[in-house]
Amino acid sequence: MNRLLTNARIIDPFGETEYIENGYILIEDEIIVKVGAGSALNISADETIDLNGKTVLPGMINAHTHLYSELAMGIPPPKNNPTNFVEILKEVWWKLDLALDKDSTKASFEAGLLDCLRSGVTTVFDHHSSPSFSKGSLGLLSNVAEIFGQNISVAFETTDRNGKEFFKSGLIENIESFEKFHNNKYVHPLIGLHASFTLSDESLKSIYNELKGLGNWGIHIHVAEDKADEIDAKSKGYKSVIDRLNKFKLINEHSFIIHGIHSSDKDMKLLKNAGATLVHNPTSNANNRVGMLPNTHISSMNAGLGTDGMRANMLEEAQQGTLIRSSHLQSRESSINYLELLFKNNPIIVSRAFRQKIGHLSSGNQADLAIYDYQPRTAITEDNFIGHILFGFGQPTDVITRGEYRVKNRKLINVSEQNIKANAQKQSLRLWNKMKTI
Ligand SMILES: [Zn+2]
Repeated sequence: MNRLLTNARIIDPFGETEYIENGYILIEDEIIVKVGAGSALNISADETIDLNGKTVLPGMINAHTHLYSELAMGIPPPKNNPTNFVEILKEVWWKLDLALDKDSTKASFEAGLLDCLRSGVTTVFDHHSSPSFSKGSLGLLSNVAEIFGQNISVAFETTDRNGKEFFKSGLIENIESFEKFHNNKYVHPLIGLHASFTLSDESLKSIYNELKGLGNWGIHIHVAEDKADEIDAKSKGYKSVIDRLNKFKLINEHSFIIHGIHSSDKDMKLLKNAGATLVHNPTSNANNRVGMLPNTHISSMNAGLGTDGMRANMLEEAQQGTLIRSSHLQSRESSINYLELLFKNNPIIVSRAFRQKIGHLSSGNQADLAIYDYQPRTAITEDNFIGHILFGFGQPTDVITRGEYRVKNRKLINVSEQNIKANAQKQSLRLWNKMKTI
């Protein structure tokens, strides 16, 4: 089956061809086979769709998020008002994740991935936590992603904070999912660890012992998000969190290291040499008041961009990341190009993880497209499209993944948005009530 999209403005920032004012995209099954300028009159296809001047961007990638937090919007305030980062975790997130059961977890996955799809986000790296419902949770997530046609990276946050039994069940869920999905084209299993400060030396040792025979495993872990994580590692006799994880042989080329705000240049060098991935989440960092990742860490590591559960829309994350950084800089200081993280670094990261070309509009890439009905009030050209992407685009009208329409004229195909949202609302109330008992 091949499908030809014509009469499209095609923008692929940092891609082989960045801007085509009027062109076409030919898709064969799940893969883009040709992108060009002009009318494609000489190309025949099973189906030809005239986009009438709509604008196509590559389907976007969220390199770190927490779908389990999707039912937190509007949550009643905690009994004890948290005054620092660790207290926010204890009073809100560690109660919420413990209260999640199978039904509320499923509702979180559905509501979250729906929001991602609506925002043109077609690949999601999730870091999941539902300690009371661990077994089968990552399989459930992969099933929901399959219904929406998204690529998903799964990981379960292993931690000591709920006792030995929960530590074990979390680790087992990671290992079972690794065994089940390590050859899957659309599911990338990582080994989730919450953070160094909620894992003992004994636990880190047993994690490595369980993983060492597995093959191409990589961890997905929060690192030095707050100073408390570094202070903890030092109090245990290590130079840093990264030094600690490295001593337990947990850093390798498949590792996903999230945040790294309080990590040193030396830590970054170690990560770089290991070939690990660093992911930056600017709005979450601002929201938690934990500090700002240095420019040098981002550029030396070619960091990816994630939202850490703050939102689904990656263009908004890039815009707000830009503004947050600007607010910390003086006029001549250099900043970070957040669209480079989103459209250059994230595609490299995802293509390596899923072992196929994802994230660009060029031949050989998985056919993941976000299509916008974008009618700007100023001229858009090959020289200024970056400004339009950062400040002008809203939600796509259409989303294609693996060559198939998943959203068409703002409507989800084969999925009832109404049912998903009605169920999520019901589950949110149940979840919040359950949290009061924890
Ligand atoms: Zn996170």
